[in-house]
Amino acid sequence: MRKPTLSQPSPSAAAPGNDSLIQKAKQHLLQNYKQQPIALVRGLGTRVWDADGKAYLDCIGGIAVCALGHCHPEIVAAAKAQLDTLWHVSNVFYSQPQIDLAEQLTEWAGLPRAFFCNSGAEANEALIKLTRKVMKDRGTPERFEIISFEKSFHGRTLATVTATGQPKYHAGFEPLPAGFQHVPYGDLEAVRRAVGPATAAILVEPIQGEGGVRMAPEGFLAGLRALCDERGLLLLVDEVQTGMGRTGKPFAFMHDGIQPDAISIAKALGNGLPMGAMLCREDVAASLTPGTHGSTFGGNLVSAAAANVVLRLLRQPGFLADVQAKGEHFLAGGRALQAALPPGRVKAVRGKGLLMGVELDREAAPVVAKLRDAGLLVNSAGETTVRFAPPLIITRQELDEALGILQRVLASL
Ligand SMILES: *Cc1c(COP(=O)(O)O)cnc(C)c1O
Repeated sequence: MRKPTLSQPSPSAAAPGNDSLIQKAKQHLLQNYKQQPIALVRGLGTRVWDADGKAYLDCIGGIAVCALGHCHPEIVAAAKAQLDTLWHVSNVFYSQPQIDLAEQLTEWAGLPRAFFCNSGAEANEALIKLTRKVMKDRGTPERFEIISFEKSFHGRTLATVTATGQPKYHAGFEPLPAGFQHVPYGDLEAVRRAVGPATAAILVEPIQGEGGVRMAPEGFLAGLRALCDERGLLLLVDEVQTGMGRTGKPFAFMHDGIQPDAISIAKALGNGLPMGAMLCREDVAASLTPGTHGSTFGGNLVSAAAANVVLRLLRQPGFLADVQAKGEHFLAGGRALQAALPPGRVKAVRGKGLLMGVELDREAAPVVAKLRDAGLLVNSAGETTVRFAPPLIITRQELDEALGILQRVLASL
C-alpha cells in the first residue's frame, strides 16, 4: 500500500476523480445529505486528499471524530491486530477489548457503568430509555418527560430527533414520540418553570455544537444539577461532540465541577470506527437489568480495540493541557481576526478547547465552499456559523495556517 506524504499525494492515473465519483453518487445514494463536492480518498494526520489529488488541512475531522488525526499509526496497528484475531462475537459473550475499554472509560469519566453502542443517537437513546426505566422502578411511572433545549442536537432516530430542539429536523416526521419539551438554552428560570409532575430528566449539551457552537452560560450546568437534585430529576449530559478531550478536559461537564447522572459519548471515541457509549451512576445503572436494553454491534471488538488506544493517547500526561493551550491560542487568533476584518463581518467567535465557531454576518455555507477551494476543510453549524473541530493533534503552526486562510477568505468577501 502506498503511504501518502505531503509531497507525494497524487492518485494513480486509473483511479476515478471527483467528478466521476460524484456523478455516480448522485445516481445511487439517497440524496439526504448536502455534500461538499469533493470525494476524499486518503488521510494522514491533519491532512486529507481528494480524488483529484488536491490536499486539504482538515479542521473538521469527520465532525469532531478523528481526534487523533487520520490513520494514526498506533490506532491503525491496534485495529489491524484485532482484525487478525477476532472481529465480532456480540454481547452474548464477553470480550477483552470491550472490558478494557469500560475500565478505562468509567475511570476517566468518574461514572462507574458503561453501555456500548455504535453512534451518538444510540447513546442518547440509551439515556432516554434509562430515564424511563429508572422512573418506573422508583414507583413514579407518571414521570417520563425529558426537558431539552432549543437549538440542541441529539441525533436522528425518532426519539433523539424529538429531543433535538430544532423544528426543521422534525418537519414531516410527525407524529413524534411523546415526552419531550424544549426550553431556551441557558435560561435556568425557564427550565424551572418547565418542570412539572411528568418531568423525569434534563438532557443538555455543555456546548451546543450543531446549533452553532453556543456555550452554556457560566453556572448553567451547576444550576441544572441543583434543580435536578431539588426535584428528583436525572441530569443527562450529551457529550457526543464535546467529550473525549475536545474542550481540553476529558468531558466538558468537568469544566463546571458537576456530576451528571449519565452521559452519552460517541464521535471521537473510535477515532472514526463506529462506537458510542452511555456511562452512568451505579444507582441508576441498576434499572437496566438483563434483557432490558442491548445492541448487536455495541462494543464491537475492532472499534473497542481502536478506542482503547484513543483513550490511552488522550490520557497521556500533558495531552489535554496541550489541547487547552492550543485552544486558547486558536480562540485568541479567531478574535484577533475578528478585530482585523471590516466591523461586523465576524459577529462572534465562540468555543472551548479545539471546538470553535465563527459566526458570520451571512450564510456560512458559501464561505465554507471558498475555504475548501483555498485548501481548508470546515463545515457550517447553524445557518451562519463556521465550525472548526480539528484533530486534537493539530499543531499551533497548522492552527495559524487555518486562521490565515480564514482571514484571506473573509477579507475577500
Ligand atoms: C453528532 C451528535 C449526535 C448524534 O450522533 P450520531 O453518531 O450522528 O448519531 C448527538 N448529539 C450531539 C451533541 C452530537 O454532536
